[in-house]
Amino acid sequence: MISQINGAPEKVYALAFGAHPDDVELSCGATLLKIIDEGNDVAVCDLTKGEMGTYGSAETRKAEADKATRIMGYRFRVTLDLGDSKLFYTEENLAEIIRVIRHFKPDVVFANATDERHPDHMKASKLVSDAVYYAGLQQLRSDLAGVRQEPHRPRHLLHYIQFKHLEPDIIVDVSDTFVKSKKGVLAFESQFYREDRADEQKTLIKRKEFLTALEARSRYFGEQIGVMYGEGFLCPSKIAVHSFKTSFPGMNT
Ligand SMILES: [Zn+2]
Repeated sequence: MISQINGAPEKVYALAFGAHPDDVELSCGATLLKIIDEGNDVAVCDLTKGEMGTYGSAETRKAEADKATRIMGYRFRVTLDLGDSKLFYTEENLAEIIRVIRHFKPDVVFANATDERHPDHMKASKLVSDAVYYAGLQQLRSDLAGVRQEPHRPRHLLHYIQFKHLEPDIIVDVSDTFVKSKKGVLAFESQFYREDRADEQKTLIKRKEFLTALEARSRYFGEQIGVMYGEGFLCPSKIAVHSFKTSFPGMNT
């Protein structure tokens, strides 16, 4: 991680973690684009290289992640090597995630959901949510490239919804960014259906219907808040209302 993080910004507004390259794009890409459109920096951290996927080597998935990063406009993407399908809850893995959080000092962290189909997603969820807390402890020491890191606790943690249907606590209106976010998803082309490779063995996400289902989920969440597209999130903490009318706008505002 240390060599990879050279040149990375030392502060971003939002940091999105995923167990595998493409988790973030599949689940909260349109929200990240909205954050960028509002003038704030986003960084992404993949916890593994995705080397156990049915399709695409670690090298292929790295090239695809780089392409997605360019399309989406993230400030930085770091891909850790904590072990696809070996993403265990260890002190070392927790320490690596704490180092990433303390480096980027995000205000908002996105993570996998606590209840998911892929076991790595649930392990990533627990590792990241615990790291968000521990990163703020004064007495917990961490170093990056031999330099002592300062404690940092992000203000907000949001879990994105990927496979299982979970009841969101909030829904973000992504009507303006959803179409572009699909280009970020399709950057991971080894993972999805292609007409010219229609004879490949079908994984769950390699079926032709999968991309339609992604759009249907976004339409469904959008419908819940009266807009075209939405992305849903679970929030472990209560959401504060600071400006009442910003949170509860009138018809013409
Ligand atoms: Zn995944």
